[in-house]
Amino acid sequence: MVYTLFFSVLLLAIIPAAFCQELVVYSARKEHLIRPLFDTYTRETGIKVTYITGSAPVLLQRIKTEGKRTQADLLITVDAGNLWHAAREGILQPVDSIILKKNIPAHLRDPDNKWFGLSVRARTIVYSTARVKPHELNTYEDLADPKWKGRLLLRTSKKVYNQSLVAMLIAEHGETKTEKIVKSWVNNLATLPFSSDTKVMEAIIAGQGDVGIVNTYYYGRLLKKDPSIPLALFWPNQKSKGVHVNVSGAGLTTYAQHKTAAISFLEWLSAEKAQKLFADANMEYPVNPEVEVHPFVASWGEFKQNRINLEKAGALQTDAIRLMDRAGYK
Ligand code: FE
Repeated sequence: MVYTLFFSVLLLAIIPAAFCQELVVYSARKEHLIRPLFDTYTRETGIKVTYITGSAPVLLQRIKTEGKRTQADLLITVDAGNLWHAAREGILQPVDSIILKKNIPAHLRDPDNKWFGLSVRARTIVYSTARVKPHELNTYEDLADPKWKGRLLLRTSKKVYNQSLVAMLIAEHGETKTEKIVKSWVNNLATLPFSSDTKVMEAIIAGQGDVGIVNTYYYGRLLKKDPSIPLALFWPNQKSKGVHVNVSGAGLTTYAQHKTAAISFLEWLSAEKAQKLFADANMEYPVNPEVEVHPFVASWGEFKQNRINLEKAGALQTDAIRLMDRAGYK
């Protein structure tokens, strides 16, 4: 009897701890990229991670509409522009964590601690190894030079990646100078902008143009399919501000029901094991500088990244969209 009572008490003490431990994630990062992480976390901690996936605007709106009743503890999405919007809409709350501050460089997280970059995505120059020598390349700004007339290929300005790139140029140079640069890019275009980074590279291979701007993981995907593609990456702006980077990242929702567990999970995501899984899944770079880059990704070379805080990608996004429109960048 005494034993039964003892074990009942013990069970009561254990059950809530074990069974209340769950987390709900709304993710704009695709299922196959996040699921292995969630499974690893559950194996390590016993905490169940439930998730739904969808596009960033849809998830953002859903959390907003659900308000205090939302199931979401964390929002995971790509691009600082999207994270900035989520914070701006009031659906994220600040997290004051020494671990997150230590593991994530300041330029890759919100100064108000409402979102945190978890992987770095580099948007860099790609070129035809058949028609361009790397010494001919220099900076993003230099792609405005007349020597690239009829040779430049870009993805559409509707894509948030390019909006963030232009927003960061505005942060560095101001609007007047940036508009001149973007206008000259448009003048140099070999053909109308493409719907994807992959199409930009396929067009270079096909000889439609010689240089473009892409996220490196798309290059990685092509290279995996065909190691002999006549393309290479170039790291621009190494003597100035550095390569334009962006993040995929996460924030704690304002009405998170499992706040403590969600913060622990965020911290776990910024540490070594998860950083590797998170970055390697999509051939990206860890945000945590202590964590090694995957050898396949590392083989494209080291580079200096732009350290202007990525909140600018959000804060200047509307200005960037208007500027690209004025410059005739479709
Ligand atoms: Fe992408």
